[in-house]
Amino acid sequence: MTMAVLRRKTHLVQIENITVGSNAPIRVQSMTNTDTADAENTAIQVKELADAGSELVRITVNSPEAAAKVAEIRQRLNDMGCDVPLVGDFHFNGDRLLKDYPDCARALAKYRINPGNVGKGVKGDEKFAFMISTAAEHNKAVRIGVNWGSLDQALAKRMMDANQHLPKPLSADAVMQEALIVSALESAQKAEQLGLPADKIILSCKVSNVQDLVKVYQDLAARCAYPLHLGLTEAGMGSKGIVASTAALAILLQQGIGDTIRVSLTPEPGSARTKEVVVAQEILQTMGMRSFTPHVTACPGCGRTTSNVFQELARDIQQYLREKMPLWRSQYPGVENLNVAVMGCVVNGPGESKLADIGISLPGTGETPVAPVYVDGERRVTLKGEHMAQEFLALVENYIHENYGENGKKRQSAKVIPITVQ
Ligand code: SF4
Repeated sequence: MTMAVLRRKTHLVQIENITVGSNAPIRVQSMTNTDTADAENTAIQVKELADAGSELVRITVNSPEAAAKVAEIRQRLNDMGCDVPLVGDFHFNGDRLLKDYPDCARALAKYRINPGNVGKGVKGDEKFAFMISTAAEHNKAVRIGVNWGSLDQALAKRMMDANQHLPKPLSADAVMQEALIVSALESAQKAEQLGLPADKIILSCKVSNVQDLVKVYQDLAARCAYPLHLGLTEAGMGSKGIVASTAALAILLQQGIGDTIRVSLTPEPGSARTKEVVVAQEILQTMGMRSFTPHVTACPGCGRTTSNVFQELARDIQQYLREKMPLWRSQYPGVENLNVAVMGCVVNGPGESKLADIGISLPGTGETPVAPVYVDGERRVTLKGEHMAQEFLALVENYIHENYGENGKKRQSAKVIPITVQ
């Protein structure tokens, strides 16, 4: 049974070829960690993130050397056939960089502006106004991205002082949460007064604690109609970062809050930057909100499996399907809905394999060393010998070609998840 996903009604923001908000798909974003002044390596990483499925890619624009290379990065991506919209991440000197490098201002699809890092007083207001006017002039979207670690200190102090004079003062945490929201909403209001249309504005209020993030976004969502970019900032490394991000995002997404997401993982040394894209996609796919890559059902294994064959096969299948997706996305429309089962023994193996589009039930300890393969619920062939893994991969590829190729009956049968805007 497919449940309708209730989403919050927002303005629709068009960012080049990508729509964000309301009933548009929840978008996956990522950010590079290369030096933007190194145009070649930044373009390569942006392309890798886009190939992995990132629909918007943010690059830091922190210096004249970086700003000078943004147009070249855009050109290099175009030359590679990659049209992913680029988002420029600006902080202290964004106004100066946008002014001195108009090619950078034009090449970016969206500017991220952190109101806490623009500057203080009148000077800060002027810098903010210049960046917003530049966005309006070039018809660019803006994310007003407030962050707990760089909250506007003047605003925080003003609100703390006012709180002390209340008959029942709020806790310091509650005031800081409110300050995050007020910073985002007041900045958005200023941006509209400066001429940036409401449908060019996205908001975010990132914090690093799950419960705080949930509370802040629930309040923010109730008080505006801007699309919201979700993310737990500084989520951390490895399983901690993945679990924390998933916990926070899942609660909010289930409540219809969140129009774009980013999973801010600290990469483990030597690991691919694309991991954050994979995790973001998996959150949306496991929640039934979008489909990106064929789903692999694999059992955890237990004392009935004494070899690593099925673990290796589950891993190889998953890697293989993900690696092929950039090509298959256009070649085999609908393939992202494929279900593959890799099971370790006869206990649950045949049952799960029958439920999948194609599944293999490997032999457990003491079982006859053969592996029945089920296709569309029926036992089709039985594999045996050393090359079972390769033979099963070939069967999966053949299944995809037959069912999602030119005349395949499952082609373009992408499961449409009903989205209701509330
Ligand atoms: S399917 Fe078999 S091997 Fe896998 S967890 Fe269940 S009992 Fe263990």
